[in-house]
Amino acid sequence: MSGLMAGKRGLIMGLANDKSLAWGIARQLHEQGAELAFSYQGEALKKRVGPLADQLGSDFLIECDVSDMAALDAAFDTLKARWKTIDFVVHAIGFSDKNELRGKYVDTSLDNFLMTMNISAYSLVAVAQRASAMMPDGGAILTLTYYGAEKVIPHYNVMGVAKAALETSVKYLANDLGPQNIRVNAISAGPIKTLAASGIGDFRYILKWNELNSPLRRNVTIEDVGGSGLYFLSDLSSGVTGETHHVDAGYHVVGMKQEDAPDI
Ligand code: NAD
Repeated sequence: MSGLMAGKRGLIMGLANDKSLAWGIARQLHEQGAELAFSYQGEALKKRVGPLADQLGSDFLIECDVSDMAALDAAFDTLKARWKTIDFVVHAIGFSDKNELRGKYVDTSLDNFLMTMNISAYSLVAVAQRASAMMPDGGAILTLTYYGAEKVIPHYNVMGVAKAALETSVKYLANDLGPQNIRVNAISAGPIKTLAASGIGDFRYILKWNELNSPLRRNVTIEDVGGSGLYFLSDLSSGVTGETHHVDAGYHVVGMKQEDAPDI
């Protein structure tokens, strides 16, 4: 299997470091021949993203804070100035005030609710508007979500609500953009230790719980996510859109804690 992405180029949004889910996906896209551009949020991250992009043969870095519509317009203008068209976008972006990623959802503030929704859910819509205009021959858009959208996960709180909005956006966007042969899908990844995840309360406990209770009895890696990302962004998944696909070692199918029953 090689060259699945030969002749395809696209934008990776949400690379922070070599632990990022976006890195797992970008690496496999590169191995299969994709040409990549990277957006980064602010100068501090540019220093980290630059060398990683370089490892994948890319010098195409674009600054973009997705909460700023003018910045998004400017980023896509920069993309368009070099590449007339693109084939795919990876949206691996989420953010919430970490003070509200612990404790109770009922305590969510309006400001943080709106900010979390804006950066973690609306940004996919904003990106899809601009990216689809650069996909005259069709394309693929992929975002990242988490099981906390479906079921209550302690501390995930407002981010779970934003991920639910994101997953539903995937369906509506898939329907809107389907006639243009643009596919929109999500990977629901199991917990992985990244910069963003470190803001979630008791994250190490969540990791351990998933390792002990998922059917594969392990946590997933960014390589696991990368393989599924490659599927969604290549023609291998040409008939798939509007999907939220779990890459979580099977955790979402389990209904009960895995342990020997006590004598009762
Ligand atoms: P990460 O910290 O490596 O990446 C998060 C990225 O979001 C960073 O690159 C950051 O710069 C970017 N970002 C935040 N606010 C932004 C803004 N306003 N404008 C532009 N970029 C912004 O962490 P990650 O875990 O790789 O997160 C990537 C995606 O995967 C997120 O959507 C996250 O919710 C999702 N996800 C993560 C896990 C996990 O356990 N790590 C599980 C399921 C889903």
